[in-house]
Amino acid sequence: MFEKILIANRGEIAVRIIRACREMGIKTLAVFSEADATSMHVQLADEAICIGPAVSANSYLKIDRIISAAEVGDVDAIHPGFGFLAENAHFAEVCENCNIKFIGPRSSVIKMMGDKSVAKEAARKAGAPVVPGSDGPVANEQDAVKLAKKIGYPVIIKAVAGGGGRGMRIAHNDVSLVKGFHTARTEAERAFSNAAVYIEKYIELPRHIEVQIIGDQRGKVLHLFERECSIQRRHQKLVEESPSPALDESLRKHITKAAVRIAEKVEYTNAGTIEFLLDAKGNFYFMEMNTRIQVEHPVTEEAVGIDIVKEQIRIAAGEPLPYEQRDIRIMRHAIECRINAEDPANDFRPSPGKIEFYYCPGGPGVRVDSHCYAGYTIPPTYDSMIAKVITYGTDRRAAIDRMSRALSEFAIQGVKTTIPLQRAIMQDPDFRRGRYSTGFIDHFLGLKQIEMPDSAA
Ligand code: ADP
Repeated sequence: MFEKILIANRGEIAVRIIRACREMGIKTLAVFSEADATSMHVQLADEAICIGPAVSANSYLKIDRIISAAEVGDVDAIHPGFGFLAENAHFAEVCENCNIKFIGPRSSVIKMMGDKSVAKEAARKAGAPVVPGSDGPVANEQDAVKLAKKIGYPVIIKAVAGGGGRGMRIAHNDVSLVKGFHTARTEAERAFSNAAVYIEKYIELPRHIEVQIIGDQRGKVLHLFERECSIQRRHQKLVEESPSPALDESLRKHITKAAVRIAEKVEYTNAGTIEFLLDAKGNFYFMEMNTRIQVEHPVTEEAVGIDIVKEQIRIAAGEPLPYEQRDIRIMRHAIECRINAEDPANDFRPSPGKIEFYYCPGGPGVRVDSHCYAGYTIPPTYDSMIAKVITYGTDRRAAIDRMSRALSEFAIQGVKTTIPLQRAIMQDPDFRRGRYSTGFIDHFLGLKQIEMPDSAA
């Protein structure tokens, strides 16, 4: 097993990884930017090294500085968390070349699955249904129009190197397609330094279902069932749950089997997620694979009782998965709310600043993953997530009621948060019945005037 791990990340996920390491008796080295000197991950890690200024291009994304820190700190492995360098194949390759274990899949697999059109091809070869669309990047607007005619409107234009919902445009006709094609390319170039886009059929009001996969270095691939992440605003997830209320046993079997087959086909190792869209008729389509730990991994952990971060570390250290598929069961229902420092009453404008008062919920069935504390200042430089509240219970209703209760206890003053919105969602009859799609939030915000207290608490 590793003696010391460098955590190439910040915020809540860095804290999450430190917690796993501490329980496993592994030392941790945090890296941090000048904006994060007082951050929780720096305080909790055994050692910490400053790697540059606030702007992530000069710190958390700076491969040479992270590798230097790893060498100075004499670590055996690097955990990249999510975001930043987590899906950067070059970074994984540099780690491999420096003899530092990258806690994730091989760089070649990251590269392959990071190209969304190559990933779709891999899924197709594994026999999984994929969303109809272009077989690769679309070169120009004429080709785009031709293809859209063939697959039928509406279509969605997506960045080949996409992520975080950026670089996507929906088009209902030739005119909006030509316009969207150019804006999507510009946006993709700006966000990912890669303008390539591809086109696929836009599935109307789908549900977002993803399957958690783990694979060891001996070729064993298992699934930890599914998560549903359809409660999204602008393609950003706000509420996630496991299991999905949309799947019956037969559909669950099919979708998890398809996911395992895709992972096996690419000889996947470590933790990963295979994302699908489910249409109203019960057809599911492969969308993409994320070759890293995901923000919403705790709902799976609480539903099946497996610590995914510890598994990632054990797998990277060469240990075999000590159980079989039949040993993994859905033991209970879990829900997560991502609490962001944003103002839902003001078009979700980011609300960085000092947290004046912070009281986080507890009690039975509640888990809070966060790096925040009273007196902490949320820097404007990074993402706006302040905490993840996860609740679980014997069934879905118990988990939802518990979430309502937990959110009612969560008191954060000084910054605006999404808590009032999530509290309202927990009371929504359609949500409670499990009847929702990715269109839920737009509909919800359009129909209801949610009461937003001045200081969100
Ligand atoms: P990203 O990698 O940027 O997060 P994804 O490919 O995972 O992008 O898609 C994010 C979300 O965008 C999905 O959860 C879904 O809501 C929507 N989406 C993506 N592709 C389609 C599609 N073909 N039809 C309908 N919605 C889609």
